[in-house]
Amino acid sequence: MSNDSRQAPPILQLDPETRAELWPRVIEAVEAYITGVGGGRVATVPDPEQVRSLLSVFDFAQPVTPGAAVDFIVDGLWNNQTHTAHPWYFGLFNPAPTTMGIAADTLVAAFNPQLAAWSHSPLAVEIEQHLIRAFGSRFGYDPAAMDGSFTTCGGESNNTALLVALTHLYPDYREKGVRALPGQPVIYVSSESHHTFLKAAQASGLGTEAVHEVGVDTSLRMDAGALRTRISEDRAAGYLPVMAVATAGTTSGGIVDPMAQLADVAQEEGLWLHADAAWGGAIALAPERAWVLDGIDRADSITFDAHKWLSAPMGAGMFFTRHPDILTRTFAVNTPYMPIDPEAETINPAMHSMQWSHRFIGLKVFLALAVAGWDGYAAVIERQAMLGDRLRAGLAADGWEIVNDTPLPVICFADSTSAEGTTVDYLKGIVDTVNDAGKAWISFTRIGPDFRPVIRACISNYRTGPDEVDGLVRLLGETRDGMRIG
Ligand SMILES: *Cc1c(COP(=O)(O)O)cnc(C)c1O
Repeated sequence: MSNDSRQAPPILQLDPETRAELWPRVIEAVEAYITGVGGGRVATVPDPEQVRSLLSVFDFAQPVTPGAAVDFIVDGLWNNQTHTAHPWYFGLFNPAPTTMGIAADTLVAAFNPQLAAWSHSPLAVEIEQHLIRAFGSRFGYDPAAMDGSFTTCGGESNNTALLVALTHLYPDYREKGVRALPGQPVIYVSSESHHTFLKAAQASGLGTEAVHEVGVDTSLRMDAGALRTRISEDRAAGYLPVMAVATAGTTSGGIVDPMAQLADVAQEEGLWLHADAAWGGAIALAPERAWVLDGIDRADSITFDAHKWLSAPMGAGMFFTRHPDILTRTFAVNTPYMPIDPEAETINPAMHSMQWSHRFIGLKVFLALAVAGWDGYAAVIERQAMLGDRLRAGLAADGWEIVNDTPLPVICFADSTSAEGTTVDYLKGIVDTVNDAGKAWISFTRIGPDFRPVIRACISNYRTGPDEVDGLVRLLGETRDGMRIG
């Protein structure tokens, strides 16, 4: 080995011959996964000891070749993950990634743009802002009077919502924190809301007891009257109501809260209304069902995840607000070391979000949307929603009781034809039998204020078609019959 300091050390960059061998190997593995993932099991039953033992050879004292390293991880991931790209994965909003998204993430890793300051990556920052305004318009926001940012995930977007809501209502919060406020701030969720709001309450200094649960109607939608009552009770008790969360497509049951009614209450009571549309927001792109989100434009802020129904590789969160200056007021700080021109009318993501270094998250959304167009996405989303209708109808016709009420493609169900068919053991038994056989992946959850146990199946994947949907109905019927005999 040469110690010539004029040469770049080859061990990180690798030499041209090694790279020429490496790239095809990586690309072939990607293509083999795309074309082959549907042919195997959806998931394995993982054994922690066995998984850890795979790593025992990596003591890092003995380097391996690039080819061996790539082969290790390709083989390892094939055999040790739940394949959310599998057409029989009826799971948790985790899709098959778009091909343009895979290309985008590869290019992002290579060009490695740093978006923290506009001046380092002007095109990347402007692409993200262009998308924020394009999607904001689809939610009914005025693109000239809004703001937003890409986030790592929906959890970060929901956390952002709470921080901007607190800063909006109590400008002192930023410098003095919760203890400077004239009471305990509280936020309102329903029994169906996502649990990232508990984390946000923790991280913001409110504490999880500040998350107050509001009652739901018989369709499990947040009850606007109950919200109004709870706010006035809380005010009488000395609390400071800050934010109400309306979910557009809850995680378990796809329930869409009544946006317009909740917006009325929030407006009258002076609360920040946050719409958590992490998954369901994609329905805005399907003209025939976009009515589902009516009123979302009145929310003060919106969470949306492109890594769910839009099939971007993880993670691609988005945060929108119709208050153009609130992100800067919440997150901007002065530093001498950042290459930022204070006079320029450009956005510096580090001064504009919870993140500092900022990966080019938006490219996987940009390239996929540029190629598919709004119409391409509309067709995919409409098709998945129709497959959801087909699954719902098929299950109902086969004697399952449909428990959730939603126009979105997620179905919660139980077996009300038998006495034990609504019990946790029975329903978990069906889920485990289906998943352990590796043919399909469905989940168990609980829904509603009484935590009713249900089986959940979601059309997560653009590769899923009518054959898989009908096949799932058959498979569930056979599994149920097997449980009865057993
Ligand atoms: C998935 C989801 C979240 C959390 O988003 P992550 O990207 O997983 O952090 C929040 N809210 C809802 C309604 C979700 O479906």
